[in-house]
Amino acid sequence: MSRFAGKVAIITGSSSGIGRATAVLLGKEGAKVTITGRNQKRLEDTAQTLKKSGVDVNLVAGDITKTACQETLVESSLKKFGKINILVNNVGAAFNDPDLTKTGIDTGVDILRKTLDINVISMVETIQKCKPHLIKTQGEIINVSTIASQQSSFIHYTYYGMAKSAVDQLTRCTSLELIKHGVRMNSVSPGFVDTPFLNAVGLPENAAKKVAEYYANNRDCIPSGVAGKSEDIAKCIAFLADRNSSSYIVGQTIVIDGGTSLVVAMSTHSLPKILDS
Ligand code: NDP
Repeated sequence: MSRFAGKVAIITGSSSGIGRATAVLLGKEGAKVTITGRNQKRLEDTAQTLKKSGVDVNLVAGDITKTACQETLVESSLKKFGKINILVNNVGAAFNDPDLTKTGIDTGVDILRKTLDINVISMVETIQKCKPHLIKTQGEIINVSTIASQQSSFIHYTYYGMAKSAVDQLTRCTSLELIKHGVRMNSVSPGFVDTPFLNAVGLPENAAKKVAEYYANNRDCIPSGVAGKSEDIAKCIAFLADRNSSSYIVGQTIVIDGGTSLVVAMSTHSLPKILDS
C-alpha cells in the first residue's frame, strides 16, 4: 500500500520549486493534495502533472498573506476531501532592495515587514486555521526553513535569515504544544536549491543559473559539488510527514545542504600556502 494512501495534504507555495516537488511526491505516494500559489499558470502546470499521475487535486490560487486565501485553503480542502492530515508550510520568499545596491539593515523596514508577512505571519495564521483539523486526524506539520536561519550569517539577506530563525523557534515551541494533542511538527532547512527562488528575489533567469553553477563548482560553497534539487528536499519532507518512518522526531530541524553549513572559511585556505607566503 502507498505510504500516504488515504491522507490529505496541504502544501503551500506549490506552484513551483520545492513545494511543487513535494506535492508531486506526496501525491504519487497516495495523498490527495491541495496546492496553492499566486501564479495561476504555474499552479495549473503543477495540477496537470499531478492529474497525469492520477492524483486527486484541489487548486487554490491566491496570496497566502491574505486571510481570505488562508480560509479558502482550509475550507476547500475540507469540502473536497473531508479532512486534513498533513500541512507543509513551504511558502517563503526573500526580498531585495529594488536597485540591488543596499543590503542588510540599509534596506527599509518595509522590506522587513514584507519578509515577516510571507515567511512568518502567514505561516502562523495557516497553522492556527489548520490546527483543530490536524488534531482530529493526529496529523503532521512540516515547516520549510533555511540554513540562513542558523549560526552563520548570510549578509545579503539579513531580514530573510531573521524571519526563518523565527520559523525555527516557532517549530520548537509549537511542536511541544501540539504533540500533547498527537500532532507532530518538524522542519527542514535546505541549503542552495536550484529553483526559481532567486528569480523571485529579482535576479534574471541567467543570473540565477550562473549562481547555481558557481556554487556547485566551488566546494567551499557546496562540499558535495552539486546544487540541491527540489526533489532532495521533498524526500525529506515526505519522511517527516510519514509517521511510520519518523514518529519519534518532534520539533526538530533537518539540514539538507550538501555540507554547506559545515564549512568554516579558515579551513578552505591551504595551510602549506599560508606557511609559504
Ligand atoms: P520558489 O520561488 O520556486 O517557490 C516559492 C513558492 O511560494 C512558489 O510556489 C510561489 O508561488 C509561492 N509564493 C511566494 N509568495 C507567495 C504569496 N505571497 N502567496 C502565495 N504563494 C506565494 O522557491 P523555492 O521552492 O526555492 O522555495 C520554497 C521554500 O524553500 C521557501 O520557504 C524558501 O525560503 C525555502 N528555501 C529555498 C532555498 C533555495 O535555495 N531555493 C534554500 C533554503 C530554503 P507564486 O509565485 O505562484 O505565488
